[in-house]
Amino acid sequence: MKLFIATLGTETNTFAPFVTSAQTFEETYLTRGGGHGDQPNTFAVPLAIWRGRAEALGWEVTESLCAFAMPSGVTLRALYRQYKEEILADLRAALPVDAVLLCIHGAMVVEGYDRPMAETDGIDCADAEGDLFEAVRRVIGPDVPFGAELDLHCHLTEKKVRNTDALILYKEYPHTDFPDRADDLFDLIADTVAGKVRPVQSLHDCGCVGVFHTTRQPMRSFVDHMIALEGKEDVLSVSLGHSFPWADVPELGVRSLVVTDNRKDKGDAIAADLCRRINEIYDEAQPPYLTLDEGFDQALILAAGPGQGPVVLADVADNAGGGAPNDSTFVLRRVLERGIGDIAFANFWDPIAVQLAISAGEGATFDLRLGGKMGPMSGDPIDLRVRVKKIVRDARQTFGAPPRTSKGRMGDAVSLQLENGVEIGVNSLRTQSTNPDALTQIGIDAANKRFIVVKSMQHFHAGYAPIAKAILYVAAPGTMIPYFKQLPYRVADRSLRGIDG
Ligand SMILES: [Zn+2]
Repeated sequence: MKLFIATLGTETNTFAPFVTSAQTFEETYLTRGGGHGDQPNTFAVPLAIWRGRAEALGWEVTESLCAFAMPSGVTLRALYRQYKEEILADLRAALPVDAVLLCIHGAMVVEGYDRPMAETDGIDCADAEGDLFEAVRRVIGPDVPFGAELDLHCHLTEKKVRNTDALILYKEYPHTDFPDRADDLFDLIADTVAGKVRPVQSLHDCGCVGVFHTTRQPMRSFVDHMIALEGKEDVLSVSLGHSFPWADVPELGVRSLVVTDNRKDKGDAIAADLCRRINEIYDEAQPPYLTLDEGFDQALILAAGPGQGPVVLADVADNAGGGAPNDSTFVLRRVLERGIGDIAFANFWDPIAVQLAISAGEGATFDLRLGGKMGPMSGDPIDLRVRVKKIVRDARQTFGAPPRTSKGRMGDAVSLQLENGVEIGVNSLRTQSTNPDALTQIGIDAANKRFIVVKSMQHFHAGYAPIAKAILYVAAPGTMIPYFKQLPYRVADRSLRGIDG
């Protein structure tokens, strides 16, 4: 048996003020031919799992590109074409293959997405992975089992479904379950290769957009319900595509996907029922956003009350994990205006500030202009007198929940101290913080701070919840403002629940 595997992923925020380039992939994760080492980077974990599982069965594995880019603006078209052609060339060279598994994000949007395909060299720019899947299917033909693992923030398009045998999405947000879903997909495709099952997919459009944290009710029960459906009565896999609302694409929207063992009617019925349930719990499922001042008013009360650990405030609109710059200054400015102390920030992306801090050295005090560089949604830069507390070169932070954790790159990281116990983590690669070790490694005692501001929508939750006294979601201004009615959609369907009205 021969298995072909590859990764090509990013989540495109079509409203972000910078493009996804070769450098974005190189800085996040890019390797070829499986050179991931003993402890694979977060973005290489599914491929490492599939290789291990396949080799344990005595299969031969051909691994092509493994490329993942920190979410940003549109992906350059020439770059997408280059990566696509590279994967296809590797696939042709590997033929004949018995199965194909791809790890993708599923929300890559390519430059030209708002123009007809006749003007984009025939590339479906609004659905890059659908475009890739169609090309892969053409190469392998209709009979070779072909599956993919997707982020639940994918655009679950008809083209992606039509060209594959089985798609499996993460179920959890934060995405702590992506290694488990990689295992699920391997099992399903291995059973397909062995002729034990014949996967058929059922897709249903829920007609809404939103943000659905699975750490709270009612989504916790919804995910548990999906899991309970699996493995019974020919149901092989159940997924919910949350979609990615900061993308102006034609097939934007929440969709359910059910894979059955050749039971299309049953899959269709379950998929429709999942959409009915999502619409039923929709309002309650949306995150409880607070304004900036409401957030700090509540945080001060909570901090004075019983319990241990910091009150964590998520600055959701400046989340690098969704294409925001991670350099907005709205929250820091308000903290300084209100005189709030004993607070840590995780973490600003400001490579110039990092460079200046490294140049000055640990213990040095100097005047620094921080943040606010990437556009109007970053706010104005703030002029500060800072002391460099600690410098760490090539810093890494943990992602996921034990035991299946992995490490992601942060670039060079520094901690900057202000008066009043304000400490700021700054790093040279744009990334959200997924774990307090982003702070502790640069000498900030995260667990004993009164407050932590984390520039993240939800991925911080797995790492920060264990040390937090309370978690608040604050909707300050920013690139990822979570009020979808305010986003300037031109292509997406404005009648979808969540952006209508
Ligand atoms: Zn996601």
